[in-house]
Amino acid sequence: MDAAQYARLSAREIVAGIRAKQFSATEVTRAALDRTHALDPTIKAFVSILDDMALAAAKAVDATVAAAGKLGRLAGVPVAVKDNMCLQGTRTTCSSKILEHYASPYTATAVGRILAEGGIPIGKTNLDEFAMGSSTENSAFFTTRNPWALDRVPGGSSGGSAAVVAAGIVPLAIGSDTGGSIRQPASLCGVNGFKPTYGRVSRYGLVAFASSLDQIGPFSRHVADAALLTGVMAGRDERDATCATVPVPPELDDLKPPETLKGVRLGIPKEYFIPGVDKDVDAAIRAAIDVYRSLGADLIEVSLPHTEYAVAVYYLVATAEASSNLARYDGVHYGHRTRAKVGLVELYCRSRAEGFGAEVKRRIMLGTYALSSGYYDAYYLKAQKVRSLMRADFVAAFKKVDAIVCPTSPTAAFKIGERAADPLSMYLSDIFTIPANLATVPGISIPCGFTPARLPVGLQLMGKEFDEVGLLRIALAYQAHTQHHLASPPLA
Ligand code: GLN
Repeated sequence: MDAAQYARLSAREIVAGIRAKQFSATEVTRAALDRTHALDPTIKAFVSILDDMALAAAKAVDATVAAAGKLGRLAGVPVAVKDNMCLQGTRTTCSSKILEHYASPYTATAVGRILAEGGIPIGKTNLDEFAMGSSTENSAFFTTRNPWALDRVPGGSSGGSAAVVAAGIVPLAIGSDTGGSIRQPASLCGVNGFKPTYGRVSRYGLVAFASSLDQIGPFSRHVADAALLTGVMAGRDERDATCATVPVPPELDDLKPPETLKGVRLGIPKEYFIPGVDKDVDAAIRAAIDVYRSLGADLIEVSLPHTEYAVAVYYLVATAEASSNLARYDGVHYGHRTRAKVGLVELYCRSRAEGFGAEVKRRIMLGTYALSSGYYDAYYLKAQKVRSLMRADFVAAFKKVDAIVCPTSPTAAFKIGERAADPLSMYLSDIFTIPANLATVPGISIPCGFTPARLPVGLQLMGKEFDEVGLLRIALAYQAHTQHHLASPPLA
């Protein structure tokens, strides 16, 4: 199998080809690893590359083929995993110095289900430290490059996972999305990125950032591949009490576009079409909406009136939960410990001071403040109340429409360094993705065109809770009639 052939295959084509003995899992895996080693020095997407583990997994799939055994739903499909999810036999660093040498003690449920279906773990991908950021510039190790423009960010926090799918290194990757960390990098890298409903996929083995918002989901070039991977990962897990018991729809395994979009109602939230949106992004989004109109969908204006509070609410809820979740990294239970010979309290302080980067420290301080007595009512409690209002906005909108369409990010990929010194401008890149996390609804970003500088633009579709099938079908309808998701960046 040559490299160019490999890079064009979808996950479903790989499974079918292995089943039909057109190629072996080992050939596919070698092609994936070759491409990894050829391109990663340029795009710097991987924290760990798992050559041996990947080839061993491929060998097991090939043995099953040889024995005419039952093949998994992802048999032989190379998958990349964000480095904040545990995979036994690998480090799980969260791109933080505090966990730089942390060995995964077990495998995350979502990752384990991928392996059980024959998926091939190619590597662990770079992220903003503890998933806090929108560019991967907060990684303690290095910044990942956008395959479409190497001087630009891939988005974040799951920037490594978005970049490896965009570069054709893997057909599938997984990330986590707390406020947009799957959808925003997908948008900036020109691939699909899907955040399922909160609770659809177990968070067991995902290093916690903000537990009431975190959700694992797929990156792909093809929406049907994202549906397949979601179906594999989803479903009840007794190790995560917040994981839903709602049955997983079997349609996800082989999702078909709807015959027609006639009668499908798509909501256009007026609060998302505002002057801050870049004009080239706005033009691409409006063109995508025209595609939906031409396919027969009804476009209806809706209002999500509390949108203006989303960023403020998110940066109270997420930082409060983070400050609590990150308390465990104290140099004793986990991770980096200072070399200084000091007493216990000083050991905690120094280990944390040495191990955490600036953004993580900023979040811990903000969150601790928001939870502290005397301020709790004014900040954290108030934010929770506004969160309920935002949820109610979505419930009301979904009485009128089947899905909501809007931009994923107000701009295309920005230059490395451009926003690094200004946290507020960085926080504002999440303005359109945060509401889905606060409201716990599913959201997907799909490629919908390019700016004149040939930077990808993403269209966001948000759906009803646990209606992943309905939402993904609407996304699939668009890809069945457009080519943007098939474009490749100009890499070697
Ligand atoms: N960019 C957002 C933040 O910095 C979202 C991160 C995420 O979804 N993990 O918190």
